[in-house]
Amino acid sequence: MSEQNPNGYRVLARKYRPDRFSELIGQEALVRTLGNALSLGRLAHAFVLTGVRGVGKTSTARLLARGLNCIGEDGNGEATLEPCGTCEPCKAIGAGRHVDVLEIDAASHTGVDDAREIIEGVGYRPVSARFKIYIIDEVHMMSKSAFNALLKTLEEPPDNVKFIFATTEIRKVPVTILSRCQRFDLRRVPADELAGHLTRICERENINAEAEAITAIARAAEGSVRDALSLLDQAAAMTADKLSPDSIADMLGRPGRQDSIAILGAGLKGDAAGALATLASAMANGAEPEMVIADLLDLVHRASLKAAGGSLESLLEVEKGPVAELAELGIARLGRAWQMLLKGHGEVTSAPQPGAAAEMLVIRLAHLANMPTPGEIVRRLADSEPAAPQQPAPATKDVSPDVSPDVSPDVSPADPPPAMMAAGRGEPSAPIPPQPQTAPPVAAPDDVPEARRAAQPTTLLDISELADAHDEPLLAALIRTHVRLVRMQSGLLEISLTDGAPETLPGDMARQLTRWTETRWMVSLSDGAGSRTISEERQAVRQKQRDELAETPVIKSIFETFPGAEIESVRPAGQQDEEPSR
Ligand SMILES: [Zn+2]
Repeated sequence: MSEQNPNGYRVLARKYRPDRFSELIGQEALVRTLGNALSLGRLAHAFVLTGVRGVGKTSTARLLARGLNCIGEDGNGEATLEPCGTCEPCKAIGAGRHVDVLEIDAASHTGVDDAREIIEGVGYRPVSARFKIYIIDEVHMMSKSAFNALLKTLEEPPDNVKFIFATTEIRKVPVTILSRCQRFDLRRVPADELAGHLTRICERENINAEAEAITAIARAAEGSVRDALSLLDQAAAMTADKLSPDSIADMLGRPGRQDSIAILGAGLKGDAAGALATLASAMANGAEPEMVIADLLDLVHRASLKAAGGSLESLLEVEKGPVAELAELGIARLGRAWQMLLKGHGEVTSAPQPGAAAEMLVIRLAHLANMPTPGEIVRRLADSEPAAPQQPAPATKDVSPDVSPDVSPDVSPADPPPAMMAAGRGEPSAPIPPQPQTAPPVAAPDDVPEARRAAQPTTLLDISELADAHDEPLLAALIRTHVRLVRMQSGLLEISLTDGAPETLPGDMARQLTRWTETRWMVSLSDGAGSRTISEERQAVRQKQRDELAETPVIKSIFETFPGAEIESVRPAGQQDEEPSR
């Protein structure tokens, strides 16, 4: 790559390559550690520098090579963290022409022969410098046999040889190599630090730029100093006058951050028209649809972190307010928007008309915003239908007071008693109607108090609840699961049983009923089909709720938005505080 363009202009990334460790942007921790190691004389024989591209690995490697070999202006200096830059070794290394400092790009020298070359070289003393230094860039690209050859050298390195490895993919470097290296992680440079760096360079280079344009470049560089400087170069070359956020957005094919914030803000408030208008203008300014959606995802991510209690530290100053505002939508809504945008991002990338796909996605986002979260749906439904599910009124009027108790016209096998229809405990249910018409059996003692008579069970559900109340949960469960009611009168119960019911169940029921009610009960098995069991009844009620819910407009539109969604359960409002997990 040529350092100079035809006009004698030196590209910024080269011109502002750091000459001293103090000029390394955003790597203070690394510099401190190196400084300590150097001053204590505890420098390893091999170093590995890792980090994303453009964060300064190669610059650090060269600075280190200089520092190790600097002899100072008077020629008597020691290895230092502050190479003088003026001695012969410093100048030669800076210009990349020192015989004892070899830079090897493993990406283009992967063979074992190259490694052998290195090892052969290691055998010779440095020609003129204090140390012979091998800088191996992208070391993870070396072949396995090359690594093996290198490993032998690393196991017994000569005193005057140093290796400096650089890699973007530390995981691909064998542990056997790593374990013999002092490791330094170069972090991504935070956007605000990059922005500060760019601002200083703009001042020195007389580049006229709006602050927002600078922050747009800093963000686009994603922590890479080199990328940031290259982008600034490009932008300066493209724009004759002042660098504006628009010109940067144009160059990057990205939406301006303000556009993204506006699209997301409108979309999440349900304002489809507003979101579409901003999207259209962003795309007219050259933003790629895919980049827009990616930017929206980034914003949702940051807002979710904030909503979850995270800090806004990593954000640029101008973004903090809007992101905090988005965070107030809450994790449930942001999480839902994230899901939709993530899925939509894939659609936009593969769509024949990405612009149209992005518009559809923004419309869906706004539509979604108008829908309640699952938790709100349950609350809303409960508010509008306090007595759901609706049950037919108890048919007590069918019972005529003058009918003899023996006839019992209110219960027929085909038509279970209405009270049975009510859902069981813990579910919304109509109150069980009193059945004053049920007369006590003829044999019952006349002195049974009124209160006790009222406690007589009149439905299967009553019986199962009596069992629960008397601490017989197993019996209660057997009644709910296996018993079909054929006929019930005070003291007389005709039932049929489902398959699998224990034979002793009718006897147990009679004995316990008599004990609990202090009234003699007879339980007989009948040939009649009987009612549904309590369990079956509850299931039917739940299914009915689900079916009814699925027909409401709110749920219908959710199904349209999320094909394949299912109603998993219906809970009465207020039964739980947290949002359902889906
Ligand atoms: Zn020097």
